[in-house]
Amino acid sequence: MRVADRGTGRLRIGIDLGGTKIEGVALAGDGAIRARERVATPREDYAGTLMAIAGLVTRLETAAGGTGSVGVGMPGSIVPRTHRVQNANSTWLNGRTLGPDLEAALGRSVRLANDANCFAVSEARDGAGAGDRTVLGVILGTGCGSGIVVDGRLLDGPRGIGGEWGHNPLPWAEASEHPGPNCWCGLHGCMEAWVSGPALAADHLRATGRAETAETIAVAAQAGDPAAAATLARHASRLARGLAHVVNLVDPDVIVLGGGLSRMAHLYVDLPRLMLRYIFADDAAPAVKILPPRWGDASGVRGAAWLWEA
Ligand SMILES: [Zn+2]
Repeated sequence: MRVADRGTGRLRIGIDLGGTKIEGVALAGDGAIRARERVATPREDYAGTLMAIAGLVTRLETAAGGTGSVGVGMPGSIVPRTHRVQNANSTWLNGRTLGPDLEAALGRSVRLANDANCFAVSEARDGAGAGDRTVLGVILGTGCGSGIVVDGRLLDGPRGIGGEWGHNPLPWAEASEHPGPNCWCGLHGCMEAWVSGPALAADHLRATGRAETAETIAVAAQAGDPAAAATLARHASRLARGLAHVVNLVDPDVIVLGGGLSRMAHLYVDLPRLMLRYIFADDAAPAVKILPPRWGDASGVRGAAWLWEA
């Protein structure tokens, strides 16, 4: 159901349900923050998680001085037919009817979307992709997810997996990249198993025997370490191929990167060039615009607040 009142006076509550913390924000219609709070996630405790979210909403509304629509960003996604959570790494949510249970606790309708979709909504609404028609938001962190917003609307469907690109295989793989690392989803060679932060670190370990984090590897590469630079080059090549595959399907106006790896500045320079060879368009076509996020880590909670408009 669409909300009729799109005026600036209406309050939007956004909740970002993470594995370790739950963040909440109350946004005015112009995107200004009226109230903000975060609490620890009651891990392994579903009833406690529901209560924590309900308490947060109440306190945010008290602080902001009004009631509002509620949107929740969450790990995994909702199976539309059953309303049950699937694929959440916060595993105590899986199989639960999170939406209906929150609606019962809050006494109103609630919209839910996975965190990558919230990221895409936030950056499309008033972030790096504002003004662009088709925005692909890609989170590269401990995992790899994405969301697609077209004309301000989230692209989603009967399985609730619109934009789930992280478990597609690496396209145009080289012989040395077959069959690819095992992925937690049960398959192998998934994009997530190549391009997330832990995947980058695992690739570096395989190549060098050195156990280092993605962040340390990026610092070493900047300091001139050739092995670290080679790891980043392999990573950028794989990410470019994976993104080019999506561009050939969706032809987005802009790709906005988020998550910890979005702080690696070389990606914004290297990816458009590396993708050219794989994009099925004339060389004279515009290069793909790849931008860092405007809202960074706050995009999850902001996108959740905007879900009633998306
Ligand atoms: Zn997978």
